[in-house]
Amino acid sequence: MKKNVFRSYNFSAGPAMLPIEVLEEAHEEFFDFSGTGMSVMELSHRSEIFLELAQKAELMLRKILNIPDHYKVLFLQGGSSLQFSQVPMNLLRGKNTADYVHTGLWSGNAINAAKKFCNVKIACSSESLGFNCIPKPTNWILNPDAAYLHYTENETVHGVQFSTTPTSSVPLVCDACSSLLSKPINVAKHGLIYASAQKNIGLAGVTIVIVDKELLGASLDITPDILDYTDLARAGSMLNTPATFSWYLTGLMLKWIDRFGGIENIHKINKEKAKLLYNTIDNSDYFYVNNVEREFRSINNIPFVLANASLEKEFLQQADQAGFKGLKGHSSVGGIRASIYNAVTFSAVEALADFMKYFQKING
Ligand SMILES: *Cc1c(COP(=O)(O)O)cnc(C)c1O
Repeated sequence: MKKNVFRSYNFSAGPAMLPIEVLEEAHEEFFDFSGTGMSVMELSHRSEIFLELAQKAELMLRKILNIPDHYKVLFLQGGSSLQFSQVPMNLLRGKNTADYVHTGLWSGNAINAAKKFCNVKIACSSESLGFNCIPKPTNWILNPDAAYLHYTENETVHGVQFSTTPTSSVPLVCDACSSLLSKPINVAKHGLIYASAQKNIGLAGVTIVIVDKELLGASLDITPDILDYTDLARAGSMLNTPATFSWYLTGLMLKWIDRFGGIENIHKINKEKAKLLYNTIDNSDYFYVNNVEREFRSINNIPFVLANASLEKEFLQQADQAGFKGLKGHSSVGGIRASIYNAVTFSAVEALADFMKYFQKING
């Protein structure tokens, strides 16, 4: 670190922490991007220099995720939440049903949005189990006439994550909003993958969509051009003014991941971070509790409660005073949640684990 800036321990679920190296790089060239005498925020998205930046970001993403050539990569706006509607608008392709896996709050939101466009069939649901697992694929009810099968790779609120990629005879659509670039993903097994950038990838404002070209060209008639993947792909994701600064910052983050040693290395560290926190919880003699089945525990978001619920407020207050931010659980489930995305360092997680042990010692 060049300057001695104060940095919190940021465990926010999103927008999330960014690596100091990425912030420094952006800071360094904030007023003058690449000798233009303009901030990247002031550059035309049609300028050669911005187009080059955009292309480099795409190439880096293709390299890191090993994306096959027959996939289009789009840098869109509207967040993953817009994809909940944009996916059915574009991928129904003359069919009227789609299968959805219901494993938590976010897949529930995707299901509700899709109902406006098609007949949604629920392949399986863990709702009655309090969303603490991924139901066994052998028990899923799959419809061979479905336009696609949608799943949420990581349920950000419930802390539940797939341990393997589902298989399906219809195109597989993945909401990878909170896990893309935190672990390897086999793109070739998917018809479409989407993720907004503000968790593991960069800055709010950009949503990455990776889509098999085969699926394009058959959007619903009501689809506005601006939401049509085919039109967007043809225009290099620039039918209108894109979120230029977010795109730029996402590019810096992609370079950072590459320097870090790519996706395998990122994954390794992410698993170590998660293991440390789960061990702290599991070795606390039920002072801290996480009820997610072990196989499906998320490496990105770790929700837990204090068995003595009356201590929760005190925990959050003391954690905040000690510099640990963003630990309050999602309003729909309460409790605590530590989001440990790519930019959260192992030593930050160690500091949190130490704090948890200390808090238990004085309150246990
Ligand atoms: C955060 C999140 C979303 C919503 O993303 P926005 O960019 O806020 O629309 C959707 N799905 C999952 C799994 C998420 O974690």
